Amino acid sequence: MSSKPHFETQAIRIAASKSNQREHSAPIYLSSSFTFDNAEEARQMFAEEIPGNIYSRYANPNSTDLILKVCAAEGTEDGLATASGMAAMFGSIAALLQQGDHILASRSLFGSTHQLLTRVFPKWGITSTYGDISDISNWEKLVQPNTKMIFIETPSNPGLEIIDLEWVGKFAAAHNLILVVDNCFATPYLQQPAKWGAHIVTHSATKYIDGQGRVLGGLILGKADLIKEVQFFNRHTGPSLSPFNAWILAKSMETLAVRMDRHCESALNIAQYFENSQDLDFVKYPFLPSHPQYDLAKKQMKLGGGIITLTLKGGIARAQRFIDQLEMISVTANLGDSRSIITHPASTTHSKLTEEERAKVGISDGLIRLSVGLEHVDDIKLDVERALALSR
Ligand SMILES: *Cc1c(COP(=O)(O)O)cnc(C)c1O
Repeated sequence: MSSKPHFETQAIRIAASKSNQREHSAPIYLSSSFTFDNAEEARQMFAEEIPGNIYSRYANPNSTDLILKVCAAEGTEDGLATASGMAAMFGSIAALLQQGDHILASRSLFGSTHQLLTRVFPKWGITSTYGDISDISNWEKLVQPNTKMIFIETPSNPGLEIIDLEWVGKFAAAHNLILVVDNCFATPYLQQPAKWGAHIVTHSATKYIDGQGRVLGGLILGKADLIKEVQFFNRHTGPSLSPFNAWILAKSMETLAVRMDRHCESALNIAQYFENSQDLDFVKYPFLPSHPQYDLAKKQMKLGGGIITLTLKGGIARAQRFIDQLEMISVTANLGDSRSIITHPASTTHSKLTEEERAKVGISDGLIRLSVGLEHVDDIKLDVERALALSR
């Protein structure tokens, strides 16, 4: 037996210290501020000479609990929790870059991250360039003298494109760039980007870390020196996670492994089942040999994840007819929930992109994103099969 406990054990057993009530399960610390024994202790804490809770915008026992668990899972030195995934994406960039800096990003990014890079950061003189995953030999040419950061997402939402983390880790190191990886789709259970050289790992904890569609949350994890800068930025700009949400997310970390095992098992089963369907042009899933980057997915991911994309024959009209025929699967914008969810990116989450932009990131008109939930796999299959037949 190795001396370091396994992933599951750490996620459950690592916790912030108990209070003097000796509770077994972490309580919720709904307190805006924390008291000091005397004026000198207050001075020392503000001066960061001694650790401790000061004010919940800075830190709170519940967010500390969550951060300890997720840092153990990701293998990162330190971290901080934010009110949403987007606050984590924004904070990791805004805290570490300044006017005149440039970001090299993978083209397939979450919609709001794309808006940050193309509409928000340019207002403050931070520019970016997209690189295509299918053409990584070209990335060398995309690095500018003022490039400071690489920002990527793998697997991407919703195209399920996979970036070679070993390659990008070495590329970032060779060019002395900060590598940020949005690890939302994989979760730390399936993939740990820090192992491959990522300096910062970000999460929308809203998705699989919550796993039951209840609260928003985000995480910024990574090298201690960089996290210190992000902490400074966030402490003084204020996107802190509420103690209640931190408590939910820390509890959810305890079940992440078992939930992900089931999400992945059911997703693979459904992907295999629909691979030869007459109603579909294509089924895409990282752990299907037909995925263009299957070998890469196998190399860097423990399992294939909980998301499948289905490309229906018949474009937008068919995709919408199909969605309208579903009886159980929810039509909503979230993912990573215990309930299976269907989304049509071309008419919703990615409708702001032009058709050409969508094509570049692998979103055709008939593409459907299925977030496979924790219901019995046969019930999910039945719902999809029925709706496919009725939408013909
Ligand atoms: C949902 C999501 C985000 C944004 O997270 P929120 O919690 O909704 O703010 C960022 N990146 C990816 C890949 C996501 O799926």
